[in-house]
This record gives sequence, structure tokens and C-alpha cells, in this order.
Amino acid sequence: MPLPHLQTLDTLTATILIDNDLDPISPIPPDTVDITNGLIRTLATSSPHGVHDRGDAHKELRMEDICCAAHGVSILVTATKDGQQHSVLFDAGPEGGVWEGNVRRLGLQAESVEVVMLSHWHRDHSGGLTRAIELITEAKKASGSSAPTIVDLHPDRPEYRGMAIGKEIISLQADPTFEEIEHAGGEIRKEAEGHTILDDFFYISGEIPRRTTYETGLKGGMRFEKDQDENEEEGDWFSDEIIADERFLMCNLKGKGIVMFTACSHAGVVNCARHAVKLLDDVPLHAIIGGFHLATSEAAQMESTVQDLKKLDPAVILPGHCTGWRAKFAIERQMPGAMVPCSVGMRIKF
Ligand SMILES: [Zn+2]
Ligand SMILES: [Zn+2]
Repeated sequence: MPLPHLQTLDTLTATILIDNDLDPISPIPPDTVDITNGLIRTLATSSPHGVHDRGDAHKELRMEDICCAAHGVSILVTATKDGQQHSVLFDAGPEGGVWEGNVRRLGLQAESVEVVMLSHWHRDHSGGLTRAIELITEAKKASGSSAPTIVDLHPDRPEYRGMAIGKEIISLQADPTFEEIEHAGGEIRKEAEGHTILDDFFYISGEIPRRTTYETGLKGGMRFEKDQDENEEEGDWFSDEIIADERFLMCNLKGKGIVMFTACSHAGVVNCARHAVKLLDDVPLHAIIGGFHLATSEAAQMESTVQDLKKLDPAVILPGHCTGWRAKFAIERQMPGAMVPCSVGMRIKF
């Protein structure tokens, strides 16, 4: 199913609002991306805090201007074409307070967010959702805008997700309910199929086809479903390693190609990337950004993933969140010059 109607964008910027990683010091490989914020050097030289009592020093770098890392993902993606601009928020991380704090530290205008999308129902991506929607909606009102905050969700929300550890089942906190999201000010769109948003600037995938033999889902993943017609607490836990509700976000950047945002890659980052490439025939894969969920993987799976990523040949790779240090090390070793640290607070121009 090709996507001839997906627009070719003039510019694309991603701001990492939440990620597991904070690395504002490491250099960026040349010929990859432009980092316009989030590095200590930029924070220092653009510091708004003037000082006049320290000889030749005229600015102070404040630690509270540096964003905080957390276990999860939230990325603000902004694109332009022919002078028109659109912004989508890709997930909201694990906690509203972290989202709010980092937006404040970055000095961002939350009203620019038109669509909030949730990649999948997992609390490390949805925990900050209601607070983010509240803040975006408040900021819109304060700026005199009557535009709604659209929230793009997969309709299949489990009552709870959890994990099996040995013989024990551990529940995660519930994802926000549809009612809570609406109450926060969100206008819900439930979408299980792939579709474009915001004047065809962006594409949100449907279910990601599982094709590789080695990407087998989230080991020990569980979901709790209530019994029909039973009282509140009655229900059962089921194995749910596939996480079929997971979706990625992608766009097509002029002169560069596909830029793909993947939150956890429970479907496998190679399955995600191959699906994106298939959707946009003849467009090269330029960049992959997000969690590759290799932190707990066996060495053989990691090796197969890196080998197949190499064949896909993205120019830029930003492995964040649940990728894990071993996989990042393998990517850097086997794909030298392509990896950029996915550090919270970074504003990345592709
Ligand atoms: Zn997940
Ligand atoms: Zn995750």
C-alpha cells in the first residue's frame, strides 16, 4: 500500500522532551543532524541569565535549564512545507511532572501542538498524557486559539498491562482512560489503521507486520482484561507479547528521505523500518529515532538487528529509551558515523 499522498516536507525538527538518556556533552558525528539546543555549549552561550560581578564572564549557565531524563519517550515533531507549519507530539513519557518540567526548561510554547499521538498503551509513554493535554489545551486558550487538541489513539486499550517475572505477574499502572483523556481537554480520534494527519505531513502506521524471525515481541508481556458482566475486580491476565496496538510515526523529508519515530519497537525496529520503506517505495530511509527495545535481548538478536539495520543503511540513527547500552555500542561499532546520542532536551534538525 504505497502512500503517494504523503507530503514531501521542506524542514523537520524533533525536540526530545523525554528520554532515558541525558548526554548534553558528547559530540555529534558530522554530516548527520544539526543540534540547535540541548548541548551544554548551546545552553551556555544562549543563557538568558546575565551576570555583572565576575570580571569578563557575562552569562551564567544554570543547572535548572538542563532537562531531566526519565524512563519513557516524548518527542515534539515540527515540520514545514511551503511556509505552512504543523506539530505533533509523539507520546508524553511516564509522568506529567517530567513533561511539564522539561517543556518549561526548554521554554517551549505548548500551544503549537496540534495532534498528540500515543504510540502504544504502555505507561512509560502514556503516564504524562493527561497533564500534557491539559497544558497544551490551556496554552491554546491563553493564546486565544479555539483549535482542539486532537489525541490520536489505538482503540484497543487494555485494562492493565503488566509483565511476568518468573512465576509472578506484576501489573503496570493503568494507562489513562479515554474518559480521563477527554476530561483533560483532548478530542479523541481512535485509529487502528495507518493514516496521514495534518494535511498529509505525517503518517501514523497501523499494525506493524512481524516478518523477521528474531524479533519476537516483548518477552513476558501480559495484559489484564475484566470479565464481562462481572464485578470490577474479576478478570484474568493473558500473555500479550506482541503489543499489536503499537504504531510508529513517519514522514518524508525533501532531499533526505524517510524519518521514522519508533517508541519501543516491540514489533522489532527492523520490522518497523522495513514497513516504512515498503510504504514509500523508492524513498531512502534517512533516519530512525526512538527506542529499539534491545536492552534485554540476547546477543544473537542484537547482532541480527544491527546487521539488518546496516542493510537498510539509514544515514542517521538515534537509538534512545529502551535500546540499551549494549545495542548502542554495537551500532556505533558496526555503523560508524551514523549514530547520534538521543539526549533529552536536544532539538534536532534533520
Ligand atoms: Zn512499550
Ligand atoms: Zn517504552
